[in-house]
Order: sequence, then C-alpha cells, then structure tokens
Amino acid sequence: MNEEWQCIGCGVHIQTSEPDQLGYTPKAAFERGVESGELYCQRCFRLRHYNDIQDVSLTDDDFLRLLNEIGTEDALIVNVVDIFDFNGSLIPGLHRFVGDNPVLLVGNKLDVLPKSLKPSKMIQWMRERAHEEGLRPIDVKLTSAKKASDIESLLETIETYRKGRDVYVVGVTNVGKSTLINQIIRQTAGVKEVITTSRFPGTTLDKIEIPLEDGHFLIDTPGIIHRHQMAHYLGKKDLKIIAPQKEIKPKTYQLNAEQTLFLGGLARFDYIQGERSSFTVYTANDLDLHRTKLEKATAFYEKHVGGLLQPPRPDEVAEFPELVRFEFSIKERTDIVFAGLGWITVTNPGVVAGWAPKGVDVIKRKALI
Ligand code: GDP
Repeated sequence: MNEEWQCIGCGVHIQTSEPDQLGYTPKAAFERGVESGELYCQRCFRLRHYNDIQDVSLTDDDFLRLLNEIGTEDALIVNVVDIFDFNGSLIPGLHRFVGDNPVLLVGNKLDVLPKSLKPSKMIQWMRERAHEEGLRPIDVKLTSAKKASDIESLLETIETYRKGRDVYVVGVTNVGKSTLINQIIRQTAGVKEVITTSRFPGTTLDKIEIPLEDGHFLIDTPGIIHRHQMAHYLGKKDLKIIAPQKEIKPKTYQLNAEQTLFLGGLARFDYIQGERSSFTVYTANDLDLHRTKLEKATAFYEKHVGGLLQPPRPDEVAEFPELVRFEFSIKERTDIVFAGLGWITVTNPGVVAGWAPKGVDVIKRKALI
C-alpha cells in the first residue's frame, strides 16, 4: 500500500493490514477517506465519531524511545495500573526512564474491590510493591475510570502535582487507560478540540493531547503489551469472564489439606499442609471454581481444561501455556495473588501452592482484608 497516506487527525501513516498496530484503517474506510479527502486512522475516526479512544500498542523499541523522550521533558508522569494485575501492569524500568519527573501512580478499577477492603490498605500495598520495583511515586491514588466522580477527583490531584507542567499518561494495555482518557476528554476539552490540537504530525509515536487550561497538555501515550499479563493469553470473550466487571463477591471454602481449587482452567490453588480451615476467593464473579483432591488434580486438569475448566476455550487449549507451580509457606493471614485474576486469602498457617500459566506471576502478600 502507498506509504504516503497519513491520518489527518494524528498524522500517523495509514495501513490497512494490521488491526492492532498504529495507523490501521479498514480497506473500505481507507478508500472512502481517500475519495472524500477526510482520511482518518481507525483510532482517530472512533475518537471523532464515538468519543472513544482505542489503545494502540507499540513495539518494545518504540516504547523505549517514547519513555526516553518523556525523560527529557519536564512533566508529571501518571502511571495507570490495574489493581487486579499490579505485577502485570508494571512498566519494566519505568523509574530509570522518567528522570527527575514525579510519578503519580493511579490504580484503576476501584469499583470492583469488595466493600470490605479498605482502599488505604490497597494503596499501602501498591506503594510497597512500587518501592520494591525501584519506583518512588509522589503519590498513589485509586480510581474507577468508569465513574465520572472519581475522574473529577483524580483531575484535581493531577492539578496539584503538575505545577504548571504537561502531564504524560503511561500504562500497559488492558489497565483501562483508554477508558480513563475518554472520561478525561469528556470532562475537559471535548473531542473536536483534541483532534485539532495534535502537535505531532507524522510521528509514529501516536500521542493524543488534551489541552489543559494554562496552555499545557495532558498527553495520552500508546500502551505496551505486557507479556506477563494473564490477559495476553486469552481472547476478548474470556477477558470479560476474568476481568471483574462488578463489585467482587468473595466466595469462602472450607478446605482440608490435600485439596485443590481450580480457577476455571487458568489457575490452580493447592492446600498442601495444615488444619482444616477457610479460604476466601476474590475473583470475577463469573469465573467458575472447582474443588478436587490434590492427588488427582493434575490428571483432572489435563482431562478437563477447555471443557469443565474454562477459560481457556476448547480452541485455545493448544496455545495455552502450561501451569507453573509456586509454593508458599504460610505463617499469618496471607493473600496468594494470581496476577490478573484476583487472590485467595489463607487464614491459618500451613503450606499452599499457586499455579498460573507460565509467565504469569503468583505472589504472596499480607492479607489486605
Ligand atoms: P487499555 O488497554 O488500558 O486502554 O484498557 P481499556 O480502557 O480498553 O480497558 C480494558 C478493560 O477494562 C475493558 O474491558 C474496560 O471495560 C475495563 N475497565 C476499564 N476501566 C475500568 C474501571 O474503572 N472499572 C472496571 N470494572 N473495568 C474497567
């Protein structure tokens, strides 16, 4: 295809073959656009017509270039993470790239946390985890990109910390960054203004700029795919099942030692040693849980993954990574966290194991509830 066609919204080179990449436009829309002289990439088209920003992912190299560029600016960095997938939300080495710029860490999807969990506990944990990764955020906030009132208060916080500077919003895909940006656009600039203020014609680093009151901008940057995200291994329909949509309703199980719980076919929890006790599961309400005997669990999984144990779907099983085991010795009330899925609270001392697809983290933390 002719390389010279550019989107009149953001300036990106138009292409019609890779829907997940920058500059994509369906063929028919491309032809219509050329004819009418109003050629937009799908991303800008959706933004113009539906008030909807799509996240476009970058290659690792482009993303590093983008981060390096941000490091040379004097700006506030807003790093959006998914509170259900903190490990899968981390941008490796972010602290090295941001230079002296302050980072505001924003945990999204607050609306699905069970009411019994105090937000301050989640914030404290996020701060600790960030420090372990070398990131020292200026502040940690929770928000729900779906709720207008939360966005209002987030914008106030941003205003406090940006001190007359530009704001860069960064995050990996699936954390809800587009949903958040769409809300911010609705509450601040309005769509038309955003499209016409793009200052970067012809760049491949597709940024969307939302004008702020003092002549500065809030800049949405493309997300990067994080290969260690559970979401990365699943199709769109499955994502709906594992990503909590509503407030989580915890499910409590009484387990004896040598019993296993399957979280769909995505993860597995073994109670290896300890007294009979209760275990509370915090995952999306639609995710099916199955209990079996530990000694039969591996054979049970092999037989039923993609069938009784879904997701993954039958046609996804062949591509789905094997489950990898992490063993933990428990001394106090502890959460076993399955990145991208949720967590299981273990109340009594003992030995447990968490299994997740190869590449996805299972970690333990002091129980939040
Ligand atoms: P992006 O890839 O980071 O741009 O993520 P999206 O904005 O596309 O959101 C990813 C998924 O998370 C979608 O299914 C959204 O509906 C969902 N999502 C985004 N924000 C929230 C939120 O505040 N609460 C909940 N429950 N879901 C959210």
